[in-house]
Amino acid sequence: MRLSETQREVVSAAILRYTRDRPCPACGGAPSNSLNPDLVSVPVWKGDKGIPAAAVACNLCGFVSLHALKALGLENVAAADA
Ligand SMILES: [Zn+2]
Repeated sequence: MRLSETQREVVSAAILRYTRDRPCPACGGAPSNSLNPDLVSVPVWKGDKGIPAAAVACNLCGFVSLHALKALGLENVAAADA
């Protein structure tokens, strides 16, 4: 699911609450991340629905981290596409 511009702003703000002052866990570089415009569905062992997540990539080394929308209080963003 592709995020609208408004959804991207909401998701980015939620993730930045936790990552704003933290260096990249892979390269140790200063925080500089890009939110992927498409949500990710993380596969689970059982069941046919994955975990809706936002993918963020470090602009320095490309390390990708996934942030579950439910933990961010944003499960409604993924539900908008259901
Ligand atoms: Zn990095």
